[in-house]
Amino acid sequence: MDPSSFPTDGGCTCRRVRYRLLTQPMFVHCCHCRWCQRETGTAFALNALIEADRVLLLEGNVEVINTPSNSGKGQKISRCPQCRVAVWSNYAGAGDAIHFVRVGSLDNPDLLPPDIHIYTASRQPWVILPAGTPAVAEYYQRSKYWPAESLVRREAALASEVRT
Ligand SMILES: [Zn+2]
Ligand SMILES: [Zn+2]
Repeated sequence: MDPSSFPTDGGCTCRRVRYRLLTQPMFVHCCHCRWCQRETGTAFALNALIEADRVLLLEGNVEVINTPSNSGKGQKISRCPQCRVAVWSNYAGAGDAIHFVRVGSLDNPDLLPPDIHIYTASRQPWVILPAGTPAVAEYYQRSKYWPAESLVRREAALASEVRT
């Protein structure tokens, strides 16, 4: 991804919710798990992981819906209260400090191709994964795949959440 493309904006379909990513995200997941397939109605979910305080709500507000998750710990999906399109999720693991922004809700989703494909064990068989992008059958060890700078950002985000 190109850092000079940020800040960049996104939002829901009815345009009541508009948000801005202040910087590039830490990492981008393409998740092929059955849960993401069901929740999106398609073959995978594309999530940009970014600190919550780097996502600025420009217009509107989000409705937070508690939703079951694969881990059993649940996820909070933030949706437009009017059109109900989801703009980001928060998972139990990283808590409220890290938003999983739905890349398809960006005005220019082409900016954020996946850094890794996960849960490829349940990948729909017609999806051909590109050579050159890491792919793992289930989850992965963060230290093996994330850029050092992103690991530092994540630690800082989690530490700030504990303080507040
Ligand atoms: Zn909307
Ligand atoms: Zn998934």
